[in-house]
Amino acid sequence: MRSPFKSLETKLIHAGEPEPRILGAVAMPIFQSATFQYAGETSYHDLKYIRLNNTPNHVALHQKLAALENAEAALVTASGMAAISTSLLTVLKAGDHLLIQNSLYGGTHDLVTRDFPAFGLSYDFIEAEHPETWKALLKPNTKAIYVEAMTNPLLQVADLEAVVQFAKTHGLVSLIDSTFASPVNFRALDWGFDLSLHSGTKYLNGHSDIVCGVVLGQAAWIQKITHRLNHLGGTLDPHAAWLLHRGLKTLALRVGYQNESTLKIARFLAEHPAVARVNYAGLESHPGHDRARRLFTGFGGVLSFEPRGGVEAADNFLKSVRLAIVAISLGSVETLATQPAITTHAGLSPEERRKAGIADGLIRLSIGIEATDDLIQDFDQALGG
Ligand code: PLP
Repeated sequence: MRSPFKSLETKLIHAGEPEPRILGAVAMPIFQSATFQYAGETSYHDLKYIRLNNTPNHVALHQKLAALENAEAALVTASGMAAISTSLLTVLKAGDHLLIQNSLYGGTHDLVTRDFPAFGLSYDFIEAEHPETWKALLKPNTKAIYVEAMTNPLLQVADLEAVVQFAKTHGLVSLIDSTFASPVNFRALDWGFDLSLHSGTKYLNGHSDIVCGVVLGQAAWIQKITHRLNHLGGTLDPHAAWLLHRGLKTLALRVGYQNESTLKIARFLAEHPAVARVNYAGLESHPGHDRARRLFTGFGGVLSFEPRGGVEAADNFLKSVRLAIVAISLGSVETLATQPAITTHAGLSPEERRKAGIADGLIRLSIGIEATDDLIQDFDQALGG
């Protein structure tokens, strides 16, 4: 969809808003109606019904979201996992093979490794920073390649340009989970990806009050994925759609602030005597720094670090922080802290975690929109400073 608005900040406010405004309402009203009067539709998928993803709240949101990443079309889903599972189950059919990044969000990892075999789908993990190793894993039935914009919790940046090139050379569909970057920092379709996916639960909504997902791409793909979602039923309710719509309006302000604040906090932690290591692509010391500078507008609001003293030091930090809330998830207005080894990555064996470089004492921080100095003071006291 070509948006008449050029900048992302303006698209967030105006793209997709009904013209004329409904009864003059400045804010998009909520259409909390399961079904709508029949108006001569000729296809099942066009009947107006919440599960068919076409209420006025869905339509407005789809247009706004598509504009953000210069996509032809968009689809919202009941969760990030609904966006990921429905997209992969549309792109792939029984007998197909998928190449997938080895350090993935745990839910996606489990979907692929535990559920895909039952659907007749096979996969191989790729080291996304080493494109020279991918060709050896290609099979005649390989149909797609799937990566994440920044990995969790180490914030590695895959060779995303090589992923697009590889997909084009070998006729694969390229999919990327853009959640950690958000459309403010990265617009995957402009770089040649076929489908850009988000857990909208995180930055897009930004207020820790709903779960939702987003799929962006060419209209033909979005139509196929919508039809599959219509059958699978992972639809976003209009009230949650309305909250996402509202949350989106401040996305650029929130993420711009979080980019700046997180870089300052990463620098503070990197120089702190009680910290052994900081992972943040905005730091010059990060192995993916140059690539991140080329691909991203900002480095995002998530970092991870290892306090000196391992698990005990991590426990003390989490018990001592006052502003940060100890909770999983990310991308919200509140600062959240978590210890991946016992939460998001508890499903991996200690050996798998060691191989992935996830120390037991690693802490992930998702920086909110509190004052940076207040957060720094809090982290300093929690580190015993
Ligand atoms: N992708 C990433 C990178 C995530 O961090 C998450 C959730 O933490 C998901 C997808 C899944 O999103 P949801 O919880 O909205 O289903």
